[in-house]
Amino acid sequence: TDFGYRAVPREEKKPLVRAVFDSVANRYDVMNDLMSLGVHRVWKRIFNAELAPQPGLKLLDLAGGTGDVTFGWLAGGGGPAIMTDINVNMLSVGRDRAISRGFVSDLSFCVVDAEQIPLPDRCMDRVTISFGLRNCTDKMAVLREARRVLKPGGRFLCLEFSRVQVAALAPIYDAWSFKVLPAMGTFVAKDRESYQYLAESIRMFPDQETLADMFREAGFTQVRYTSLSGGIAAIHSGWRL
Ligand code: SAM
Repeated sequence: TDFGYRAVPREEKKPLVRAVFDSVANRYDVMNDLMSLGVHRVWKRIFNAELAPQPGLKLLDLAGGTGDVTFGWLAGGGGPAIMTDINVNMLSVGRDRAISRGFVSDLSFCVVDAEQIPLPDRCMDRVTISFGLRNCTDKMAVLREARRVLKPGGRFLCLEFSRVQVAALAPIYDAWSFKVLPAMGTFVAKDRESYQYLAESIRMFPDQETLADMFREAGFTQVRYTSLSGGIAAIHSGWRL
């Protein structure tokens, strides 16, 4: 079916993504729950189990938004975390949530473009990006940067929408993302375009195997992925050796 989605021209992508997240920052968490019927919480729990937080290890969370991955790490007993995002509005919602949850020590915040990380080589033990890679213009640059800042023996994990692999799910998922989501965007967030962008960006994103190949091309080893909910999302991971 042709839903009329289009690739955003490269030079238009950054300003568009910025406008989308400026516009949704305050409603981001409630919209996430509504649009995924709460399932994103389950995916993030599985992601956190895979991440396996450990005291003393340092985490860099890219495109951290309102903080779910960082909070999972800290709540699970992980070491110092740097929560980053390119969008200061998203990050400040995240900072407020951190304070209200009592996560104040071992946590810092920084506005960072994941395509150009302002950190030295080999300084982090874990790097994460959750529902962020899709929004980045130069995805290979993000993967290379993640590898560069990891210490040898460090691991990169990515949670992202992926390709549905269960045929029976496809029509339901299409109707959900191209009819229900933009309608919710209109009524709940008063912002149809942002949620149209969301549906489009999901369709344009590389499938499980393609993303795994990109991880290998960026220099990661032992690249693995796990599909979640029939492939609606996937967790990819790789080690820097
Ligand atoms: N990680 C959070 C989560 O899982 O709920 C937030 C994900 S949110 C869908 C995507 C985030 O990616 C937004 O906060 C947006 O500002 C951020 N983003 C987009 N492009 C980025 C870039 N080039 N570098 C860093 N963050 C970026």
